[in-house]
Amino acid sequence: MESRRGNPMTTEEEYSDLAATRRIHRLNSHISPIVTTQPATSVVQTENCAAAVAVRTTKKLEVNGQALSLYMKGKHMDIQEKVYEFFNSRPDLQTPIEISKDDHRDLCMRQLYGLVREAGIRPFRYVADDPAKYFAIMEAVGSVDMSLGIKMGVQYSLWGGSVINLGTKKHRDKYFDGIDNLDYTGCFAMTELHHGSNVQGLQTTATFDPIKDEFVIDTPHDGAIKWWIGNAAVHGKFATVFARLILPTHDTKGVSDMGVHAFIVPIRDMKTHQTLPGVEIQDCGHKVGLNGVDNGALRFSSVRIPRDNLLNRFGDVARDGKYTSSLPTINKRFGATLGELVGGRVGLAYASVGVLKISATIAIRYSLLRQQFGPPKQPEVSILDYQSQQHKLMPMLASTYAYHFATVYLVEKYSEMKKTHDEQLVADVHALSAGLKSYVTSYTAKSLSVCREACGGHGYAAVNRFGSLRNDHDIFQTFEGDNTVLLQQVAGDLLKQYKEKFQGGTLTVTWNYLRESMNTYLAQPNPVTARWEGEEHLRDPKFQLDAFRYRTSRLLQSVALRLNKHTKTLGTFGAWNRCLNHLLTLAESHIESVILAKFIEAVQNCSEPSAKAALKLVCDLYALDRIWGDIGTYRNVDYVAPNKAKAIHKLTEYLSFQVRNVAKELVDAFELPDHVTRAPIAMQSDAYAQYTQVVGF
Ligand SMILES: Cc1cc2nc3c(=O)[nH]c(=O)nc-3n(C[C@H](O)[C@H](O)[C@H](O)COP(=O)(O)OP(=O)(O)OC[C@H]3O[C@@H](n4cnc5c(N)ncnc54)[C@H](O)[C@@H]3O)c2cc1C
Repeated sequence: MESRRGNPMTTEEEYSDLAATRRIHRLNSHISPIVTTQPATSVVQTENCAAAVAVRTTKKLEVNGQALSLYMKGKHMDIQEKVYEFFNSRPDLQTPIEISKDDHRDLCMRQLYGLVREAGIRPFRYVADDPAKYFAIMEAVGSVDMSLGIKMGVQYSLWGGSVINLGTKKHRDKYFDGIDNLDYTGCFAMTELHHGSNVQGLQTTATFDPIKDEFVIDTPHDGAIKWWIGNAAVHGKFATVFARLILPTHDTKGVSDMGVHAFIVPIRDMKTHQTLPGVEIQDCGHKVGLNGVDNGALRFSSVRIPRDNLLNRFGDVARDGKYTSSLPTINKRFGATLGELVGGRVGLAYASVGVLKISATIAIRYSLLRQQFGPPKQPEVSILDYQSQQHKLMPMLASTYAYHFATVYLVEKYSEMKKTHDEQLVADVHALSAGLKSYVTSYTAKSLSVCREACGGHGYAAVNRFGSLRNDHDIFQTFEGDNTVLLQQVAGDLLKQYKEKFQGGTLTVTWNYLRESMNTYLAQPNPVTARWEGEEHLRDPKFQLDAFRYRTSRLLQSVALRLNKHTKTLGTFGAWNRCLNHLLTLAESHIESVILAKFIEAVQNCSEPSAKAALKLVCDLYALDRIWGDIGTYRNVDYVAPNKAKAIHKLTEYLSFQVRNVAKELVDAFELPDHVTRAPIAMQSDAYAQYTQVVGF
C-alpha cells in the first residue's frame, strides 16, 4: 500500500541509499536472532491469529457510559440544551424534508430571529469573549439545520467578527448592538468572480476622496463582482467589503495601491430594505446544499461611504489622506487581517466533528439493528458483525473520538489566543486551525458517503439524513479557505519552523516535537525495534507517536531537500509546485501527529478507569489504522519489518472487533439530542416500526 499521494517520503535521492540499507538489514537479520522484549503470549505473534482473535472475542470491555459521556461533555452543554429545547418546542421552526429554496431561506431567517429574539440566545456576545461557548451554540444550531448554523456564522462570525476584530472602538460602539439583535444583518464580501483563494488578487477598489472625506467603492470589471456572498441575496443590510485601498499621491503616479483593506458598506435601506443606489445585487441561485442561506453577488458603482467606515485596526487614513499603520508592509497588514479571521475556520473544524458524530451514530445504530444472512439454519446476524462493515465504521468511530479531542484543544488554544494576543500563539493557532479544518472536513465529507453506503438503500431515503448532511457539509471543504490551499499554509509554516530551528530559533508549541524528532528520528530506523511486534509494544503510545512523528520528520526533511534542489532550476514557485503533493502529505502527516498526541493526552487525563479503557481502545485503533493506512511508507524505509506490518494489520482488525462490541456505548456517549434519532433508521429500538410509520403505513 502506498500513502495517498504516492510515497514522497522516499525521494529520488534516497532510493539507492535505501536499497543498500535494506540489504544490510536483511543480512544482519540472518546473522543475529530477532530480539523482542514483548510477551510471548501476544496474539499477533501467534501462528493462527484468526483463531486467537476468536478466543479473545469473548472478553467484552465494560464501558461506564455515564462516566465516558461526562468526560466527553463540553463545558457548554447547558446552552446547547437550551437551543435544542427551543427548537423542540417550536415545530413551526423545524426544517421539513422537502422545502423550496425561497421557503428555506425564509425559514432560516425566522429560525435565527427565534433563537436570538425569542429564546434569548445571543451568540455575538461570545464571539470575542467566550469563543468556546459561541462554537457550542454553532454546533447545536447547525445540527438543527446546517443552513441555520452557516447563516448564524455569516451574521456573527463573519460580518460581526470582521467589525469587532478588524475595526476599532468606534465601530464596536456603533454596530455591536444592531449586529447582536439582528437589526443590522450583514455579509462578509471577500470572494470575487475571478478571485477566491487568492485574496491578495482582489480587484474591487476603495478610492479615498479627500475633498468629501469619503471612500468610493467600485467594481472595476465583471471579474471583480463579489460572488457567493452569504446573506446578500435577500436579508443583508450591510457588507464588510474587502477592497484595494487607493490613495491619492502627489507624485507622477497620482495614486498609490495600499493593498486589501476592509470597509463597511451599507447595501440596503434600513427602513425600506430597498437596494441602495450604486449597489447591484443578484442571486447566486439554487445550490447543491445549504439552500437556507441566501448567497448573492454584489456589484458597486461609485458607492460613497464615510472615511470612518474603513475598519482601521491595522491601517488608517487620516483626514488629509495620510496613511498610518503599526505594521510596516502590505504583506504584514494582510497577514494580520486574515489572522483575525481564523475563528470561522475553528468553527468549521469543530462543527464538522459534530456532523461526523451524527453520521457515524446513525450508521452504527442502524448497523447494529440491521440483520442480513447468517450461518446455515441459524438466525441472521447483525451487519455490524461483518468484518467489512467493521472496517468501514469502527476506525471512523475511533477517528471521531480523535477529532473530538483535537478540536476541543483547538478551541481552547483559540480562546487563549483571543485573550493574550501572544504572537507565537497567533501563529500556532493559524496553522493548527488551517490544518485541522482541512483535515477534518475532508475526512467527514468522505465518511458521509461511506455511512450512506453502509446503510444500504435505506441510507438513501432523505428522511435518514445522509443526503442533506452530505450536501450541506460538502462545501466545508472549500469555504473559509480551500482545503488544498490551507494544507499548503501548514506545510509552509512547518518549513519556516524547520529553517528557523537550524538557525537556532525557537519552535511554537504545536511543533515542539520536531525539536527532538529531527535529531532522533532522522537517524536510520532501528532494525531491532522495527521487528518488535508484540501487542504491548504496538499499543504503547510511545511507539504510535514515534511512528507518526518519524513519518512527519522524514517528510519534512526530504521535502526541504527537494525544494532546495528544484529551486535552483525552477525558481521558488516552480519548485513548490513540483513538490506540491509531497507538501500536502507532509501537512496531513503533521496534523495526524497533533491529533494523536492530543488523543493520547485525553486518554491519560481520564480518571475513571472504565471510560479510560474505552478511550484507550479507540485511541489504539485510530493510531494503528493510520499506521496501517501508510504501511507502504513505513515499509519502504524499513521502519517496520514485514512481520510487524502483518501484526499491525491483525491487531487493527482485532481492535475493530473489540470496538464493535462496545460501539453502542461509544456512540451513546456522544449524547446527541433527539433530532439525531429522528433519522428513523437510527432509532435505538424498533427501527422498522418507526420507519414504516414515516413512509405512511
Ligand atoms: C455556499 C458558499 C458560500 C460562500 N460564502 C462566502 C461568503 O459569505 N463570503 C465570501 O467572501 N466568500 C464566500 N464563499 C466563497 C468561498 O470562500 C470560495 O469559494 C473559496 O474561498 C474558494 O475560492 P474559489 O471558489 O475561487 O476556488 P479556487 O480558488 O478557484 O479553487 C478552485 C480549485 O483550485 C485549487 N487551487 C486554487 N489555488 C490553488 C493552489 N495555490 N494550489 C493548489 N490548488 C489550488 C483548489 O484546491 C480548488 O480545488 C462561499 C462559497 C460557497 C460555495
